[in-house]
Amino acid sequence: MKFQRPWASALLLLTCIAITLTFHHHIASFYVKHAIDSELEFLLEKLETHVGEAIDMNEQFMRDLTFDCSASDIMKMQRAAFTSPHVRLFEIHTQSGKQCSSHGRAVEQSEEDSWHTLKDNVFIGSELNNITHTHDLAVINTAPNYKLIADIEPIHIPRAFCDECAVLKVQLNNLDILVSDIDSQTNDLALSSFIYSDKYPFSLSLSVSKNYLSPVEHWSGAISLGIGATLGLLLVFAMQWLLSQNQTMEALIKQGLQAHEFKPYYQPILHSKSGKIVGCEVLVRWVKEDGTVIPPYQFIPFAEDSGLIIPITEQLLYRVVRDIKKLNWADTDKFMSVNIVPEHLYSNDLYDYILSLKTDDSWSFNNLSLEITERRKIEDLQQAKVTLSKFYEMGIELKLDDAGTGYGGFSYVQELGISTIKIDKMFVDVIGTDDMKSSVLSSIIAFAEASSKKTIAEGVETNEQVEYLAKHGVYKIQGYVYAKPMPFNELVEWKKVAKNLITMKHS
Ligand code: C2E
Ligand code: CA
Ligand code: CA
Repeated sequence: MKFQRPWASALLLLTCIAITLTFHHHIASFYVKHAIDSELEFLLEKLETHVGEAIDMNEQFMRDLTFDCSASDIMKMQRAAFTSPHVRLFEIHTQSGKQCSSHGRAVEQSEEDSWHTLKDNVFIGSELNNITHTHDLAVINTAPNYKLIADIEPIHIPRAFCDECAVLKVQLNNLDILVSDIDSQTNDLALSSFIYSDKYPFSLSLSVSKNYLSPVEHWSGAISLGIGATLGLLLVFAMQWLLSQNQTMEALIKQGLQAHEFKPYYQPILHSKSGKIVGCEVLVRWVKEDGTVIPPYQFIPFAEDSGLIIPITEQLLYRVVRDIKKLNWADTDKFMSVNIVPEHLYSNDLYDYILSLKTDDSWSFNNLSLEITERRKIEDLQQAKVTLSKFYEMGIELKLDDAGTGYGGFSYVQELGISTIKIDKMFVDVIGTDDMKSSVLSSIIAFAEASSKKTIAEGVETNEQVEYLAKHGVYKIQGYVYAKPMPFNELVEWKKVAKNLITMKHS
């Protein structure tokens, strides 16, 4: 494969890389946010377990303790605090002023403003620890003469998540009651997330510092670069492949033109009443040297887009005129209808070429007609009209192909001086069914009649369709019901037997 348009390829590659690189920051943030959120879920579940256990243990103590700070109470609290992984301290404050804890002496200072009711006489709130000087989360049970405090073991960010690069806050009523790891005052924080507990009135927030984000940004940058480069290279290869395919197709068609491989096949158009042939549509076939026949859909779209349809049509016309002469149609109004594209009407080339084929009276211009599809837009309508008027002067008519399926609609019929409307197979197919398109068929026929245009029905495959069309005034029939497109020698043979065939069909 020859490498083509290196600048365009380089630009495509660089654009892909640039686009993906602009996203790498988002990729990093997305990844980190996801990591923070899952860590928060894990920490919240942990803290909820701690609180749940503190509530259960307090409930048990409310039944078991005597609340007089006796040696037995202290011992029971000590044992429970020692064995529980989730409560680090129990403490009793009595109405009469006695205070004791699982440490022995009391250490907690209640901050009743922060308390939230969990259920009757049970609260969750913050307690100031006089030893650690931290505000700790605690579950407090109250009774008329005393209160019992369970100081909950704080939670920490696991080292596996990160070391000294994140701040975890537990907030109770918007009050930070527990802050762990790096200095919360740091303004080095890059990303944070929140989670609210469904069970208890607190929330957790986790913020990571730039130290956490930057390595992620590095690898996401590398990954984005990789994705961008891979995508870019794939697009470059796809572009190169398409270019080479098109170049190959172009080269092949040019070779085909040189070897005169584009040949007309003829599909007869018959009058269904008389059974007589009124003309043929010329359909191109690419007949390779080895006899392989390539159908139009494999090369016509490319030929039309690349402009190679112009020399192909000339090659066809040369043979078509030669065949018309052999059929002795000069003094008849029988026609060979050739498919053209709008580009044929933007210059005089087609006109001049047809003129150059008229060397004697062995054929007449009215033995040729042109058909143009409604599916493609005629961009330069003015120029097209000028060229067409010259064809009309000659006696060459224009048919509207695929009527009702495309762009131009009936405005073309008015504007372009079209003589005949070719009803597309799509509308013929619905005859005998209750498809909505049958009303379009009726409108096309009514329009043709009202504007005195001739009609040809295309793609007619059954006698039922022939009869329906005849009943509605459409007699010129092209389709497999009578004949498929065929090379000239077969057409000559077909003509010999056709009349009998058709009379038989309708009898
Ligand atoms: P089109 O101009 O609409 O031609 C009619 C197509 O319908 C032809 O296909 C023909 O063989 C097919 N056909 C006719 N009767 C029947 C039928 O009863 N049943 C079915 N199923 N099909 C039927 P073909 O020959 O393959 O041509 C396809 C298209 O290629 C043409 O559609 C036309 O758009 C294009 N084409 C063919 N030759 C030329 C040419 O010389 N120049 C240009 N520009 N386009 C051409
Ligand atoms: Ca056609
Ligand atoms: Ca057609």
